[in-house]
Formats: sequence, structure tokens, C-alpha cells
Amino acid sequence: MARLGWCGLCLLADRISIGLAIKRKNLQIPRGSAMADITQQRAEAGERAMPKGAELLQNPLLNKGTAFSHAERRALGLQGLLPPRVLSMEEQVERVLESVRRKPTDIGKYITLMALHDRNRTLFYRVLLDNLAEMMPLVYTPTVGQACQEYSHIFRKARGIYVSAEDKGQIKDVLENWPSKDIRVIVVTDGERILGLGDLGVDGMGIPVGKLSLYVACAGIHPSQCLPVTIDVGTDSRERLQDPLYLGLQHPRLRGQSYDALLDEFVEAVQSVFPKAVLQFEDFGNVNAFRLLKAYRDRFCCFNDDIQGTAAVTLAGLLSAMNLAGGRLQDQRILFLGAGEAGTGIANLTVSAMVEQGLDESEARQRCWFVDSRGLVVKSRENLAEHKLPYAHESEGAPDLAAAVKLIQPTALIGVSGQRGAFDRRVVELMAGLHERPIIFALSNPTTNSECTAEEAYTWSGGRAVFASGSPFQPVTVDGRTFVPGQGNNVYIFPGVGLGAVISGARQISEAMFLAAARVLAGKVTAEDYQQECIYPALSRIREVSGDIAKAVAERAYEQGLAGSDRPESLEEAIQKAMYEPTYPEYM
Ligand code: NAD
Repeated sequence: MARLGWCGLCLLADRISIGLAIKRKNLQIPRGSAMADITQQRAEAGERAMPKGAELLQNPLLNKGTAFSHAERRALGLQGLLPPRVLSMEEQVERVLESVRRKPTDIGKYITLMALHDRNRTLFYRVLLDNLAEMMPLVYTPTVGQACQEYSHIFRKARGIYVSAEDKGQIKDVLENWPSKDIRVIVVTDGERILGLGDLGVDGMGIPVGKLSLYVACAGIHPSQCLPVTIDVGTDSRERLQDPLYLGLQHPRLRGQSYDALLDEFVEAVQSVFPKAVLQFEDFGNVNAFRLLKAYRDRFCCFNDDIQGTAAVTLAGLLSAMNLAGGRLQDQRILFLGAGEAGTGIANLTVSAMVEQGLDESEARQRCWFVDSRGLVVKSRENLAEHKLPYAHESEGAPDLAAAVKLIQPTALIGVSGQRGAFDRRVVELMAGLHERPIIFALSNPTTNSECTAEEAYTWSGGRAVFASGSPFQPVTVDGRTFVPGQGNNVYIFPGVGLGAVISGARQISEAMFLAAARVLAGKVTAEDYQQECIYPALSRIREVSGDIAKAVAERAYEQGLAGSDRPESLEEAIQKAMYEPTYPEYM
């Protein structure tokens, strides 16, 4: 029987009355299960019957496929609609794994998995959660990058809500078309900067869909409480403007006031239609990302994962790297390649962590340096974007990365530029010449954009680099020693932060919450991980990591007066109970 999930916890009162209504029809509905959620939705719509027969098989939240028992098949009008043998969930998982592994290409595997997502969500999440290391690169980066690039061409079924510029004045109505009213997490993109792939317009929808899959698998947010949204303001991608099969608006992107007004209307509509939702901004171009975060972060419960989630996961990596490289965070000199959302977000949070450790803010900022597409960011440069100004230090310039490494002599080099090969042999050897254990993070996604590969970092540094990447790399053996590269993946942070905000009913998501999340994550790395040179915990422990992060985030919400709900007697217990487990309910 499915455990009482988050829905069960927060909708219990409503459910009791619905449960009674259904009992009258002699159907036992397990509370807190996917079925109870649908029942809830149906009750909201004034419709109380449980779907039966073919309709039940078409409902991904309720469908169990070949796992419906004989008794359920008889009671629910399914006899003859399924092959005779009843399979256990474990057997179904085996079958899915076999068919995914049989596909020769990653995009084929992605399509197979998303078809399962559309057919039987419980099974999809069971497969994902129990095989995260294998499945995550398929449902998220790097494969999701390819899926987005081809989205309009491999499109089979709409998932999530599309809000287009043509919906201006009616966005609330558009959101109200979504069948569930109890949404707790929304991931929204406008498709302008998808991973490191640039403007993909509505084809970016794969990103909110993929991220929300990870919310469910990694933090146990209930699938029916997740909503992926793509805002279509047009695209500046010439390829899409000319593609007859492209599914979005075929005009250049809205900018300026028209864009801001559309976003304002969207945000207001979200607050009105889904007042309990945490809103995660995802893969917006940096011209808008910083502005939107500044405009909304103190007004309601939202965050930008590219800026703040990346910052927390990377800060955690820096903190745990200290255990391999030695030294203290506040003594590091960090050089970033790329001064966009990720880079300046990481620097801002790292500065806050250094300040917590006793540095004053300007000293801490002096420890962070940037190289962007025009060279070292220094005070004498003109027309610097606002987010780079705090890091434009008094210094001579440097035309390229190698020159900047020589000049700044960083202890840590962090790549967030989307430039494959930017950490070439010369740069890695320079870093290895400066320090016994140079910290080198090549965070750009997908894999094809990574500043260097794990193999390059370990080989060129003679096995001395403390390395992490954005996309996954296989273990590497150098001089007989095997290194397991850590993946500085935001998935370690955002699901836990979202769950903590949901549990506490947070009205805002503060910087203190991200600092707390980073410290919890760093504290999860074990001696065994360090022995393998890995500075992040194993992905197989993600639920435990997310639960602990959720607890720390909720604690901050209560401490900072940002919580919208009473503190439960045991936060830990409340979090554990709230987490959705992908197990089938017994309908009979
Ligand atoms: P962004 O567009 O905001 O910033 C990109 C920055 O790179 C800009 O400052 C740009 O000037 C700079 N840049 C471009 N070409 C350059 C060059 N040749 N030399 C030096 N700098 C150059 O993008 P972002 O959100 O900051 O993301 C950047 C990269 O980081 C992407 O590839 C993204 O996938 C990756 N990222 C990884 C993670 C993670 O692994 N956890 C999280 C977020 C972003």
C-alpha cells in the first residue's frame, strides 16, 4: 500500500470526506495515493466516479498496466484489456530497463522513458529513483539537451502549460485550464538559454519537464503537484524561425516593456491560481534572469536555479574540496571563466560564505575574479553589465584565460562559459604548476560544452586536480589510480530547497537557505567518497540528501520568520512522511 505522501498530509481533511463519498460506491481509495489525488481533482470538478476500463489505463497517475491484480481487473472493468499474466512492479521495472538499454541511442532511450512517463507515472518514477545514476543523464543533461534541440520534431504529446505572448490578458484563464489546482512546484522557462545551447524557444519545454521529474524522484514532491511551464515570447533562433515544423511563435523575442508586462501578468496569475506553489525560474537568458530575480525574490516564494541552485551546489563542492586540497574557503582565490548567471551567482554565495567565516565583504569579493568573452573583468573596462561590477577589480587586464591564470594565480578555476576546450592542456598545466592540488571545476553543460573532460583534467595535472563537472563523466584511471569525478549537478540542491519551502510554506527563499543547503550537501560527502577523489555524495543517497536539505531550509524559514505554516513537532518526521514513494496503491 502506498505510504501517506505529501498530498496525504496536506489534504487529509478534504480526503476524509472524499473517501467517505467513494466508500458509498464500494470502492476503497487509498488516501495519499495517486488515486486519492485524482479523486481529489475529480471531487473538485464535482465528479466523483473512479475512472474504469480503458479510461483508467489512459490515466498515467492511476495506471498500473500489467500490475493490476485479477481482483482489480474484475472490479475496474479491465478484463480482456490487458494480457492475462499479472506482473509485479519489480518485473515491470526489469522490462523497462531491458527496453531502455536495448535502444541504441540516448535520444531513443529518452523517448522510451518519456512514453512510460505518459503511460504509467508510478512505474516511471520507480525506474528513475532506483536507477538514478543511469537514468538521470537520459531524462536530464546531457540527453535532455539533444531532446530540446529536436523537440518540435520528436513531439508526441504536450506536457505542461504553454503561455504565449498571444495569451496576454488571459494568462489566468490559461493556468486555470490545468486539471489540478493543488500545485506546489512550478518550473518555468522562456527558452532563451537552454543549458549551454542558447535560444531554443518553446523547444526548451524539455527542461521544466525534466527538472520536475527530478523534483519527484529526488525529493518526493508528488507528481500531480508539479507543473512545467514554458512562456513563449518568440525566438531569436534563425533555425527555428525558418523551421516549418517549429511549434512556437515564429517571430523575434519580445523585449523591454512588453516582455516585463507579460511576465508580471504570469507571476500574478500563478499567485492567484496556485498560491501554494514555489516558482523556479529556469534557463532564462541573463538579460532577464537577474532582473526577474531582483524584481520577485522578496515578493513571493521563488528562486532562479541557474543563479542560486548552481551557486549552492558549487559552494558545496568548494567546501568539500577543502578536504582534499587543504586550506580554508576564505583563503581561496577563485577565477571564473564565464561571468553570467552561474558564475556571478556562485561568486555571490561564496562571498556570503566567506563573510560568515569572518572576512569582510570587500575582502571576500577580492578573492573572486572573472574572465568573460572579452578577457579579465577589471575596473578599467567600459560598459560592464551590472552583475559583473562588484567583481571588476583594480588590476591590469589579461586578454585570455592563460594570461589571467598567470596574473591572478588562482587556487580554484571554475568554468561556466559554455566553451568546450577552454581549459586546454596549457591552462591545466599552469594550474598544476601553481598548486599541489589545484581545484578545477568544468561546469558547462551539456558534456559537449564542458571546458575540459575529467580525463583531461586528471591526466594533464598528473592526477592532482580536484575536479568536478556539470555533466557526468565516467571514472578515469591515471597511473593506476582510479578517480571518480563528482558531478556538480544542481539536482543535489533544488529538490531539497523546494521541498523545504513547501513543507514550511515559505513566503520567500532567502540566501541563508541556499547557504544552509550548501553546507548540508558538503557535510554529506563521506570518507569513502573522498578516497575516490569525489567531492559530492553518491547519487543513490539523493533522497537522504534532499530530506536533510529540506529540513535545513525549513529551519531557516522558521528562524527568519518566513514560514507560512506552523512548525511540526518533528520536522524530520514530517519531511519523511511528505515524500512521495512510487509504489502502487492497492485499489481493492
Ligand atoms: P550565461 O549566458 O549567463 O553566461 C555565460 C558567460 O560565459 C557569459 O558571461 C559570457 O560572456 C561568457 N562567455 C561566453 N563565451 C566566452 C568565452 N569564449 N570566454 C570566456 N567567457 C565566455 O550562462 P550561465 O547560466 O552562466 O551558464 C553558463 C554555463 O554554465 C552553461 O553551459 C550552463 O550549462 C552551465 N551551468 C552549469 C551548472 C551546473 O553544472 N551545476 C549550472 C548552471 C549552469
